[in-house]
Amino acid sequence: MSAPETEPVKTLPLVFNEPRGRKKPPRHLADLDEAGRKDLLTEMGLPGFRAKQLSTHYFGRLVDDPAEMTDLPATQRDELVAALLPDLMTPLRTQEADKGTTRKTLWRLFDGALVESVLMRYPDRATVCVSSQAGCGMACPFCATGQGGLQRNMSTAEIVEQVVAGARSMARGEVPGGPGRVSNVVFMGMGEPLANYKAVIGAVRRLTDPSPAGLGMSARGITVSTVGLVPRINQLTEEGIPVTLALSLHAPDDELRNELVPINTRFSVAETVEAAWNYARVTKRRVSIEYAMMRGINDQAGRADLLGDVLNSYGDWGWVHVNLIPLNPTPGSKWTASDPKDEREFVRRLEAKGIPTTVRDTRGREIDGACGQLAAEA
Ligand code: SAH
Repeated sequence: MSAPETEPVKTLPLVFNEPRGRKKPPRHLADLDEAGRKDLLTEMGLPGFRAKQLSTHYFGRLVDDPAEMTDLPATQRDELVAALLPDLMTPLRTQEADKGTTRKTLWRLFDGALVESVLMRYPDRATVCVSSQAGCGMACPFCATGQGGLQRNMSTAEIVEQVVAGARSMARGEVPGGPGRVSNVVFMGMGEPLANYKAVIGAVRRLTDPSPAGLGMSARGITVSTVGLVPRINQLTEEGIPVTLALSLHAPDDELRNELVPINTRFSVAETVEAAWNYARVTKRRVSIEYAMMRGINDQAGRADLLGDVLNSYGDWGWVHVNLIPLNPTPGSKWTASDPKDEREFVRRLEAKGIPTTVRDTRGREIDGACGQLAAEA
């Protein structure tokens, strides 16, 4: 008798760590805290106090041209800039939408890897959507980034530089509405931020460190979005930085979520939602549940009811809100956005269960800059 045919093993894209032995991105002052910058200069035989001047140029004045750093002695300037302010990335292309208030930039990193970031200006705030990895290993089938796999993790400084670049554009009045500041950062660009945990936490620290050690932003203005790497959510809970956590749920039941968010076969809906609830409980920050509305896939009234029940099973003390994202088209995807009528009914049912629900606007769709459309093709 021949051996029974075995079911093909479902291989999961569980690329938590990148391959070893790769060349690292240039070291930059944004990778280091204040003490680390000072130590580095001292080790190089340079005066430690210059670190603060460099930080003031980078984070405080948003200078990118060494010629403007006139408080550095001309004889040392090149050496100091090479040590702590090397070029990290080159803008290859900027595309605009919404009358110039949405700007997507394609960046080439030192090793040729490509990533994108998006700056969005609203009447009352300006948000930079940053990438945390070149590519992504999570393989969600409806997301453009997920289709190409993971190339590599980004460094802390490569993540921070996307925000600093946005801050420069705002400060220099390049975005309609006059000179302004970046108030919010969302880790909703390319990559799974919690799969690059250390660099992402480093970036959050640099963004929130008071100026000139960092950008001096409020942690409340920063959102970390995840597919739900449960151990990492728990680690973030312990970290003591009150960022907003967004959980990309997309389905309230394991059967469908296994398909839409493949990591769900590792961490179930129940485990994932519990970790998010615990984050809200400990940090007192309301968690955001992201739910991309896909026609005929996850947008049925019954799923709205189930989602409401799953979330309410952890109490109705306002720990959570749901953010529906109309599915943005991606090349080759068989899925489309929900019928507006079904979307309205979905909102109504969640609200009937007491769950605050919003529908995200789809800024930058026409420049492939909306959620899930970042593919970084040159
Ligand atoms: N890896 C993180 C951050 C990525 S993107 C995460 O998954 O949360 C930010 C959001 O865009 C996620 O909620 C993601 O699921 C969603 N998204 C991905 N593709 C999309 C698409 N085609 N249309 C709408 N939202 C999408």
